[in-house]
Amino acid sequence: GPAKIVIIGGGPGGAAVANRLRTAAPDLAITLVEPKEKYTTCFYSNVYIGGFRSFRSITFDYEGVRKRGITVVTDAATAIDTTTKTVTLARGASPLSYDRLVVAPGIDIKFDSIEGYSPEAAKIMPHAWQGGEQTWILKEKLLALPDGGLVVMSSPPNPYRCPPGPYERACMIAHFLKTTKPKSKIILFDAKRYYSKQAVFEQAFMEFYKDIVEINLTNEIDDYSVVKVNPQTGEVTTKSGQTERAVVANIIPAQKAGSIAASAGLTEGDWCPINPQNFSSTKARDVYVIGDAAIAADMPKSAYAAVSQAGVVAADIIADLTGKPRTAGRYHNTCWSMVAPGDSAKIGGDYSPGEKNGKPFLKGENEFISQPDDSPAVRLETNQESQDWYQTVVADLFG
Ligand code: FAD
Repeated sequence: GPAKIVIIGGGPGGAAVANRLRTAAPDLAITLVEPKEKYTTCFYSNVYIGGFRSFRSITFDYEGVRKRGITVVTDAATAIDTTTKTVTLARGASPLSYDRLVVAPGIDIKFDSIEGYSPEAAKIMPHAWQGGEQTWILKEKLLALPDGGLVVMSSPPNPYRCPPGPYERACMIAHFLKTTKPKSKIILFDAKRYYSKQAVFEQAFMEFYKDIVEINLTNEIDDYSVVKVNPQTGEVTTKSGQTERAVVANIIPAQKAGSIAASAGLTEGDWCPINPQNFSSTKARDVYVIGDAAIAADMPKSAYAAVSQAGVVAADIIADLTGKPRTAGRYHNTCWSMVAPGDSAKIGGDYSPGEKNGKPFLKGENEFISQPDDSPAVRLETNQESQDWYQTVVADLFG
């Protein structure tokens, strides 16, 4: 029969690889395993939190994927046996067998990295770093915030999903406060000293949100990593011992590859090592890992990056199955962030396989980044570019 491809995870990584394979090789049997009926994109969720989008407009079902002739199984993978080449499902009666497996489970939150944090605590102090219910909870809490109430955010250590994401979120929460709760403030505690597009964000905090946002970056004297929370009292405590009592707390802890990856033996530490030529796992044969779960440095963990990796993986699977030459992948990324109405910044570049300190990595070239002194016209254009990208990518993934 036709070769069987199983894909775990229906986010940008998984959905894109399914779609690319379907288009390029109509005879493959492609199965996408995803427990959620609907996928809410984390990308553009900050824009929703800022009040520029509806929840509905960032939420998609899998009917479009099904219509392409991809089998979508609404279930979670609970085990992978890379010897018998089978995937066990939570509710599925019999395991799925595969010729090639693509693992794209995104991230899981390291709950134990913060004392007092847990899946239950996250209902009170949402991370909103996985899309869906978490995004919704954060927005509801912000809507219910009394004017004058304090918002506290924490930003995680590297590496994590969407490097500029916490700062875009700080801007969008600040915009929401500025326009609806002008007496409120947001304090951000950061485990890091340096972060993505820092110059642009610092300028935006000064220009648009001067008395609203307070950013605390870790330095030689103070470690602003959040180490403890109390969901009952709203207290958020840093490693240096500063405590703030939040009315709304947005706690974004350290992260790791989606837990199926570790249980399948695909991880080294928290993430999955891959061959940068084609994102095949270094841990198991005929298995690929793409998206946030993979160690793809210097490529950031972004939806754009996941889709770019998916294209390479689809081409590699087809070349491998048909005995054609397999060529090393070339990748691209752009991350946009909205800092204020009609004002977005970007960072990006091309990536190709290389080596650093004896280890494989993805070498960046043709890199670009927005500048703090960009004209409003340039920022407006970048904002439009970002909206165009979003519409194109969600149509590509779920349309
Ligand atoms: P995910 O999108 O997390 O998808 C993984 C899927 O796998 C999930 O649907 C999950 O349910 C499923 N899954 C997990 N475990 C299993 C299992 N055992 N069995 C079956 N299915 C499973 N990126 C950008 O490019 N641009 C942006 O502007 C941008 N903004 C962002 C803003 C925020 C606030 C955040 C949090 C992220 C942002 N990102 C952005 C990053 C982007 O959301 C992620 O990089 C992207 O979602 C990664 O895709 P993925 O397919 O690897 O993982």
